[in-house]
Amino acid sequence: SHSSPFLHPGAIAKTDRLSIVHLKRDLQAPTILRDHDEDDEGYSEGKVVNTRFGSFPHTTLIGLPWGTQVRASKVDTGSRGRRGQKQEKKQPQEKKRKREDPESTEHPNKRRDSENGEVAISTPAEGKEEKEAETASSGFIHLLPPTPENWTSSLPHRTQVVYTPDYSYILHRIRARPGSSIIEAGAGSGSFTHASARAVFRGYPGGADANGTSKEEKLGKVWSFEFHEQRHQKLGEEIKEHGLDGVVQITHRDVCEDGFLVEDQSPKADAIFLDLPAPWLALPHLTRSSPPPKLSHGTSEAGTPAANGTSEASTTPFLSALNPTKPVHLCTFSPCIEQVQRTISAMRKLGWVDIEMVELAQKRFEVRRERIGIDNGAQRGLQTTPASVDEALARLIEVEGTFKTFHETGEKVEGKKDKVNPNNREKILESLVDRKVYKEGNLVHRCEPEVKTHTSYLVFAVLPQEWSAEDEKRARAKWEVKI
Ligand code: SAM
Repeated sequence: SHSSPFLHPGAIAKTDRLSIVHLKRDLQAPTILRDHDEDDEGYSEGKVVNTRFGSFPHTTLIGLPWGTQVRASKVDTGSRGRRGQKQEKKQPQEKKRKREDPESTEHPNKRRDSENGEVAISTPAEGKEEKEAETASSGFIHLLPPTPENWTSSLPHRTQVVYTPDYSYILHRIRARPGSSIIEAGAGSGSFTHASARAVFRGYPGGADANGTSKEEKLGKVWSFEFHEQRHQKLGEEIKEHGLDGVVQITHRDVCEDGFLVEDQSPKADAIFLDLPAPWLALPHLTRSSPPPKLSHGTSEAGTPAANGTSEASTTPFLSALNPTKPVHLCTFSPCIEQVQRTISAMRKLGWVDIEMVELAQKRFEVRRERIGIDNGAQRGLQTTPASVDEALARLIEVEGTFKTFHETGEKVEGKKDKVNPNNREKILESLVDRKVYKEGNLVHRCEPEVKTHTSYLVFAVLPQEWSAEDEKRARAKWEVKI
């Protein structure tokens, strides 16, 4: 069957299905649970997830309800060799949300490396990770069902990916919904692919409903394109392994050259998402009624009147990749403004309307209490001036007073600004040295600087439905009957 843990996770973790081993915030390990070692002939306890938080044999995870907190196994899973048992070494990496793009101010073609999108994924400095491992080890994990969101933050990066804040907004704006047909290019690491598959999914493929209508007809579909051979192959394997092959169809293709028809079939797309270095080169293949102008890569402008169709007499009739009965919604995703300019220029020439650019600035806020510095002063052996220490002490007394009143009476009352008694000064300072001063000071927040949160510019546009005199006549007839 085509059941997918992303679409129908069920209540418990099952053998041979993907699960997410959640170690801590921003650190998750996707794991296919096996109850045996495939190439182990003898007795086996199954594979083991080895993490900095301890070892978790798969057999201890299979059958658990999603969300279960699991303590590390006390069983010595040993190292390779015992009874031929093999261990699966999981080394989940913390991923950065940001698309690192040091050349973002340069020419759009240079925005990523020569392989169109591949980047080295930055991991935290080793030393830092080691240190965290020592201090953060808490000995348990949570077992979670896979979702597009946790897949995005744990998937093996083969390219830069589209993150959840962007794809949620994009899928909303391009009106992805159950039953939609979506074109996606390039597929890259499949982050957007998983999110869009869930958005368009409706029921299982095959079979028929009570009216005898094939459910397949009602299924939404993601038509995914990727021209990098290994990435195409790897994503194909993943999609199959995740049970999404009934919803996602992946084609190995340079869409700028060869467009979006698959085996002479039209995706009849309702929506399109282009995450390509040069989306303007793909746009001429997304027209309603005229064949794409012939383009030579890199230099030509999309949408320039081309000889195609006039001098090159084509025998096959033009087939559009778009749904002819609806307006089509498009989004392109580009980190540089130069790319946006070229894309929008091509859109205008090709009849796209309602063109709008949006940048999402999702920021992480760090909220903490700003200490008033009294303990530092005290620990440094009172090197600060007596006046400043006194001021800090008075402030502390004030804050504590406010805090106490608030907790005892629920009222916010200004604390009294007591003068510090010189006789108590030393004593108070001494008592502060080893104290936790977590509740003192003001709550402050900081957010990431803007330059860090830039992912890409999103360009949205709509290609209206073509409207003939015939369509108008039909529409009027319908309207008149209704009246
Ligand atoms: N959206 C993807 C995700 O969320 O994981 C990431 C896409 S990645 C940034 C861009 C991908 O587009 C690369 O994998 C690249 O190989 C592919 N690509 C670039 N030009 C292409 C073209 N003309 N046709 C098909 N794929 C292309």
